[in-house]
Amino acid sequence: MNRKGYYGELGGMFVPEVLIRTFEELVAAFEEARDDPGFQQEYQEILSSYSCRPTPLTFARNLSEYLGGAAIYVKREDLGHTGAHKINNVMGQGLLAERMGKKRVIAETGAGQHGIATATMAARFGFQCTIYMGEVDVARQRPNVFWMEQLGAQVVSVRDGSRTLKDAMNEAFRDWATNMSDTHYVLGTASGPHPFPEMVTYFQSVIGREARAQILERAGRLPARVYACVGGGSNAMGIFSGFLHDPVELVGVEAGGKGLTSGLHASRLASGQGTVGVAQGYKTYFLQDQDGQMKGTHSIAAGLDYVGVSPILSHLRDRGRVRVEAAEDAEVLEAFSLVLRKEGLIPALESAHAFAGAFREIPEMSRQDLVIINQSGRGDKDIFTIAEALGDPGWRNFLREKAEADRA
Ligand SMILES: *Cc1c(COP(=O)(O)O)cnc(C)c1O
Repeated sequence: MNRKGYYGELGGMFVPEVLIRTFEELVAAFEEARDDPGFQQEYQEILSSYSCRPTPLTFARNLSEYLGGAAIYVKREDLGHTGAHKINNVMGQGLLAERMGKKRVIAETGAGQHGIATATMAARFGFQCTIYMGEVDVARQRPNVFWMEQLGAQVVSVRDGSRTLKDAMNEAFRDWATNMSDTHYVLGTASGPHPFPEMVTYFQSVIGREARAQILERAGRLPARVYACVGGGSNAMGIFSGFLHDPVELVGVEAGGKGLTSGLHASRLASGQGTVGVAQGYKTYFLQDQDGQMKGTHSIAAGLDYVGVSPILSHLRDRGRVRVEAAEDAEVLEAFSLVLRKEGLIPALESAHAFAGAFREIPEMSRQDLVIINQSGRGDKDIFTIAEALGDPGWRNFLREKAEADRA
């Protein structure tokens, strides 16, 4: 990093004039907290007594035997409170917001996982909470909207643009610009303007620190590769950051959707179709047309369905430190079923991308090798999508009977 918040030419802080002071305050508060042992201790205490850390590293014996290559270990972020790695970041930012004297938090959410984690944090810290969510996502993620509201958050349905995640993010910035004195914006991934990529990576780096110590203790050596799915890049940066200075290959897996030539995917890096531009307050690879209009994205995993990507992760890719692949929806569903049947683990559809990317390569690896796959979250939330994609007849009947009973 040469200038603050830049990673090569990527990153930066391209925010409206009115927000510059707010961002600078946040940078200062974050840097001060990071260097304060008192803050560290409080954060550790929340992670262990509330978020259920450390999460285990599970040896996937059956999958390892079945694939016949490297031995597979799974980092269990699905066991964190609220069911994904998102809690690590929101509890850190909650503690920071409290320290800054804020009374209210806002957040954007796509699939709703970050919204639920933020609403949970707000309940715990006693903050008022507003969650911005695209109208399309509100409709397709009804169970998450229900929980956010039960947790006491106000969910605002955003009707602009494609009515999805990027529009929710724009609306959250608009809110922040009018309410910055008492409000903190809890950005959910390692993207967006400085200091969010750095700060979110910092709060997620606990994943990689734990995983590294756990594999050394269990197996006595480092893994050959670490796999993680890539939406905005926070779970990947979280686990990769533990191995950056080791001879370990780091592999990110993006959403290949219906195929990289179909136009229906969210692969900004692996597809070669993402181009560098400035949007949403930062400079990175976006899926955009020649005029800088953001393209529509698609993934079976709502949490990977985003047009931009972490500038830190992109820079590591450009430098050859991280390799990025893409896995298509169909392949992801197959990997998902295999993990359930062989190990009794239920990965989120996002995490199933990491498994799919790994399963392709593991059979060619040596049996002496180890790999770690980051299971970023649990799949219970995806029951509607998965049952539909698998065409489960029992589930279809259940939905039909429920609808008929409601009408009667
Ligand atoms: C949100 C989410 C992701 C994608 O976000 P990243 O910032 O790329 O980690 C991946 N997995 C799960 C379970 C999520 O909830």
